[in-house]
Amino acid sequence: MTIHDLAKHLDAKKTEKMPVVFVGHGNPMNAITENIYRESWIKLGKDLARPRATLCISAHWLTGRDTAVTMTERPKTIHDFYGFPPELYEVRYNAPGAPLEAGSVRTTVASLEIRPDLDRGLDHGAWSVLSNMYPEADMPIFQLSIAYERPMNYHRALAKELGFLRQRGVLIVASGNLVHNLQKIRWEQNAKPYDWALEFDAFVKKSIEAGNEEALIDYKKLGALADMAHPTNDHYLPLVYAASLRDKTDGFRFFSEGIDAGSVSMRSVIFS
Ligand code: ZN
Repeated sequence: MTIHDLAKHLDAKKTEKMPVVFVGHGNPMNAITENIYRESWIKLGKDLARPRATLCISAHWLTGRDTAVTMTERPKTIHDFYGFPPELYEVRYNAPGAPLEAGSVRTTVASLEIRPDLDRGLDHGAWSVLSNMYPEADMPIFQLSIAYERPMNYHRALAKELGFLRQRGVLIVASGNLVHNLQKIRWEQNAKPYDWALEFDAFVKKSIEAGNEEALIDYKKLGALADMAHPTNDHYLPLVYAASLRDKTDGFRFFSEGIDAGSVSMRSVIFS
């Protein structure tokens, strides 16, 4: 199939606009234990109109200066964490890839060259959530990396260029956490959230409610509070993609919330 044929083929498949989701994934064990977050993922998968494919932008695929997209036909399950019980390493989520949709990203995004990745599988930011949303493992899934050395305006502009996917039946799931400070984790059961975790979570909530994309992009203006909530911003950047993909006609709904282990916000939102 030539690129021209591919474009025609995809045009013929224009659909109702699909939502954009930001999901807090948190502890990898959330994928397989009984918990309210996992329940919300299961419910979300049932509630949403079925997409043709799902693109995941995960905190756990960071590339340096370039952005990559998975072109894998049969992505493997990546167990990118340490020190968890064996049953978590036994999870295999055998959803197919979506090389055709991944190809449409490469041909449609005009402002930069997106590197095809022919080998990469699904990281736990993707499979912990998607294996619960689509437990039959029949949903084609591809991932886009986060070019971690690039500035905010790079991510924001790229996200806006991905908006075409929503018209082509592709669900976009950005997976991170709105507060994510692992050094401050409180391990005890029902740990009390830190004040700064509540404060930053409230800032994000308020900014989403007000439709204030600028405030979310410029979160570093919050200074010490921002640094406490995100000593590194890998788990925040997926929100930048989701918030930048939100368009003027989208409403919003928080479908999960809570501060886990004192310093990890599980707040999740759908734009549709
Ligand atoms: Zn994570």
